[in-house]
Amino acid sequence: MVIGHAGFKFQNWAETYGSQPELYFQPTSVEQVKEILDLARQRSKRVKVVGGGHSPSDIACTDDFMIHMNKMNKVLKVDKEKKQVTVEAGILLAELNEELRNYGLALSNLGAVSEVAAAGVIGTGTHNTGIHHGILSTQVVALTMITASGEILECSESTNADLFQAARLHLGALGVILTVTFQCVSAYYLQEIQFSSTLKEVLDNLDEHLQTSEYFRFLWFPHTENVYVLYQDPTDKPPSSSANWFLDYAIGYYLLEFLLWISTFLPRLVPWINKFFFWVLYKGRTERVDISYKVFNFECRFRQHVQDWAIPIDKTKEALLELKAWLDRNPKVVAHFPVEVRFAQGDNILLSPCFHRDSCYMNILMHRPYGKDVPFQQYWLEYETIMKKCGGRPHWAKAHTCTSKDFEVMYPGFQKFCSIRESLDPTGMFLNTYLEKVFY
Ligand SMILES: Cc1cc2nc3c(=O)[nH]c(=O)nc-3n(C[C@H](O)[C@H](O)[C@H](O)COP(=O)(O)OP(=O)(O)OC[C@H]3O[C@@H](n4cnc5c(N)ncnc54)[C@H](O)[C@@H]3O)c2cc1C
Repeated sequence: MVIGHAGFKFQNWAETYGSQPELYFQPTSVEQVKEILDLARQRSKRVKVVGGGHSPSDIACTDDFMIHMNKMNKVLKVDKEKKQVTVEAGILLAELNEELRNYGLALSNLGAVSEVAAAGVIGTGTHNTGIHHGILSTQVVALTMITASGEILECSESTNADLFQAARLHLGALGVILTVTFQCVSAYYLQEIQFSSTLKEVLDNLDEHLQTSEYFRFLWFPHTENVYVLYQDPTDKPPSSSANWFLDYAIGYYLLEFLLWISTFLPRLVPWINKFFFWVLYKGRTERVDISYKVFNFECRFRQHVQDWAIPIDKTKEALLELKAWLDRNPKVVAHFPVEVRFAQGDNILLSPCFHRDSCYMNILMHRPYGKDVPFQQYWLEYETIMKKCGGRPHWAKAHTCTSKDFEVMYPGFQKFCSIRESLDPTGMFLNTYLEKVFY
């Protein structure tokens, strides 16, 4: 029998949202998940599953029942011929990366961190970069879930295809995801080349950059023209690293946090800090080669507020230049960390920000040096205005002020997702405050 614990306090990774579920469960089997849902039905409780708890919003919060899937984290099946792996939904990608390596396999793309769960990462549409690569959900070829009624459903392109189109980006709203099958590729090494440039050069030659590197991204340092370009590409070269790249980063981290903290008292310093960091950390060219997941991931130590909208790729230049011009006209508003610009291929997943269009993701951050909040509302508001004007769709895991009215306009498949959700969960067992804003 599964036991729920009272008194558990949930906090997301950035410590920006939390909740105190009435009962907290860590099931070890499908039968136990079923028991929890039976109990929730009997007591009219809502249920929220948490993966790695990395979403920088309240999407995983609940005051009722919380299920943590960290004990359902096994690799169930590896099909070496098809290069497919089926895993329990709670496995962390960090665990999966290592397991896959033993089979000579790898995921074809990853976000910045792997301390996230298989079902969690697809639940919010996690993405990386690469114009010939979709968001991570596009790597899913099948999944199984248990619905509010206790029914177990399978879906893939050929079985329950409509459900599959919804469930690959499920928002935690359709049921408890039990297993996920990923299409993998042969294990590979990546060469990363980093070099400095200017905003004008990168925007003028965007197509060329996109075609030159399989996983191209760039960082723009607000209040400056400075840009840092990252090319990541498969290679046969042996592992190597530019002499003190990591050392620089580690030292840079402590110094940056201290300077950002100082700038909370003296915001005028921010443009200088941005210039200084570009010069210290990113000026010049560095190269390294490592196994793919170690290059995709980086050790993110900053707690932060973050927004990350996807806009049609042809709006990249317009949107960035408008944000830059607005910051130039409003020197009292400071943006103290690089804007990370990434790209993703269009797909057909109902709630994917890349639904039916190749997209540019524009990620803005405000760090919280030593946990201290920095004013960001004005910057956030203007950024959202520009993103909306450019036809943007917000990242589901990150901050945004959109409601169902916005999503109805943004997503051609929104109503279809809502119908599927309502038929699977008519009483709203899997809703929470975040999802009420999305659907009502
Ligand atoms: C440091 C850091 C770096 C990041 N880098 C990136 C990045 O590069 N690109 C990007 O796009 N995003 C990035 N993110 C966001 C992150 O990838 C997403 O928030 C992702 O969803 C987190 O996965 P998780 O396992 O922590 O999910 P959680 O936050 O725990 O949950 C996410 C959603 O999935 C649901 N869920 C989880 N498991 C299940 C299940 N078994 N069944 C049903 N529902 C479930 C939850 O209820 C919730 O709705 C980053 C976040 C952080 C903190």
